[in-house]
Amino acid sequence: MAQTSTRPAELVVDLVIDGAIRPAASGERLEVRDPATGEVVAEVAGGGPDDVQQAIDAGRAAQPAWAGLEPAERGRRLRAVADHIRALADDLALTESTDTGKPLSQARTDVAVAAEYFEFYGGLVDILYGDTVPLRGDDLALVLREPYGVTGHITAWNYPIQIAARTTAPALMAGNACVLKPAEEAPLTTLALGALAVEAGVPAGVLNVVPGIGETAGAYLAASDDIDHLSFTGGLDTGRLVMTAAARNVKPVTLELGGKSPNIVLDDADLDRSVPVITKAILQNAGQTCSAGSRAIVHRSLHAELLERLAAAFEGVRLGRGLDDPDLGPLISAAQVERVLSFLQSARADGGRIVFGGDRATVDGLDGYFVQPTLVDAVHPDARVAQEEVFGPVLSVLVCDSDADAVEIADATPYGLVTAVWTSDIDRALRVARRLKSGQVFVNAFGAGGGVQLPFGGYKHSGFGREKGVEAMRTYTQTKTVTFDVHQ
Ligand code: NAD
Repeated sequence: MAQTSTRPAELVVDLVIDGAIRPAASGERLEVRDPATGEVVAEVAGGGPDDVQQAIDAGRAAQPAWAGLEPAERGRRLRAVADHIRALADDLALTESTDTGKPLSQARTDVAVAAEYFEFYGGLVDILYGDTVPLRGDDLALVLREPYGVTGHITAWNYPIQIAARTTAPALMAGNACVLKPAEEAPLTTLALGALAVEAGVPAGVLNVVPGIGETAGAYLAASDDIDHLSFTGGLDTGRLVMTAAARNVKPVTLELGGKSPNIVLDDADLDRSVPVITKAILQNAGQTCSAGSRAIVHRSLHAELLERLAAAFEGVRLGRGLDDPDLGPLISAAQVERVLSFLQSARADGGRIVFGGDRATVDGLDGYFVQPTLVDAVHPDARVAQEEVFGPVLSVLVCDSDADAVEIADATPYGLVTAVWTSDIDRALRVARRLKSGQVFVNAFGAGGGVQLPFGGYKHSGFGREKGVEAMRTYTQTKTVTFDVHQ
């Protein structure tokens, strides 16, 4: 069992390549800001194409020995990563909260979930089974699951350590070496993960972390013919670019993109139960969640009551700096605030009625990127605010008249990531769940973020391929069939 570290997490601000921590080849630095104040809290190495190439080369050199380790030993090392994350959990959560602006308790959850990914896949490694297929007579085929080799991972800023763990833990479990490019807005905990993995016994070169600008470092990784698989978590437009780049080299791609996920409230729903969950589903991480519950589709008979209760819940929301653990923290950047405000403008123009919020917020003494929790009623299903990902604390309320109507409205966006159905009738719940075009459906719950065991990924423009769960073993392996023609 690898020992766990008890030293406090030093801020890692340089690249983690081949087990060493070093500046970018170009010497470039990127500023990282605290979204609550706008102040620069760190300057990290700005990796470029040269650094990404070195990381790929390091992965290529290290991967055969990693894949050749006894699976149980690979598993032990991944579980040691989980131990190291837990040993540094307080520091990692403080860093994550400062870097992203998210409430500290959310950051703590994210760090805990990151550890769970390494524990889960560290435990699964022994069941990386293939199949045997009986053929004629004694003839037999083996279907083997093999690692790709070097996998590229490009991640988003909204749940940095959680997504980094989600995408690399199964890839490492399967025997791949990883090159991970975190988002430039919030790279700190991903760098820490790269450094602590080395301490936990993951060999040098097996997990490389290279923060850098998307259009340079990210684009170079996506267009590289030297990687064997690419996993991308981010926005739809970037996903298209990344997939196009990978297609030129015929690289397999997993895309985890955005969503416009609804809570469907049928006429027999329990509002006592659903209102707090619907509120959290949109306000968690200030709405900057791929699976944010950004639409409420409510049966006409419950519309007025739901709206009133949601407005009351929004009224009680406490804004503040992430480190003070408020209900609602700042958005990631000034640009994100402008984007959210432009959605509110178009919501009004499209006939929406702002019931609560609707503007930027001021929080005592802080010059950060705050927006009020915002409730918009009378939203038409075709309105921009109902169709596109806002990525802010903005809940659109839409009305339906039947279960079929609810399903039609729920599916009438380009996305299909997650959906919740609120009803007291399990038959209705199942009927609706089966009809929805959605990667996950929750009945009387909304599970954004949780459940490392549950396959996760989108229908339609929310992406394809699956992360999480046993399913991710398939994502990060390729299949080889070996047949035996047995001499009689
Ligand atoms: P983004 O698409 O702007 O950036 C994502 C990553 O891509 C970053 O690391 C960025 O540097 C990189 N990038 C940017 N341009 C690139 C290019 N030309 N080539 C290669 N890489 C490039 O997304 P974001 O703003 O960081 O994150 C928000 C988006 O991510 C939202 O749409 C959200 O729904 C989505 N997201 C999805 C999931 C999921 O699991 N489905 C999880 C989290 C976030």
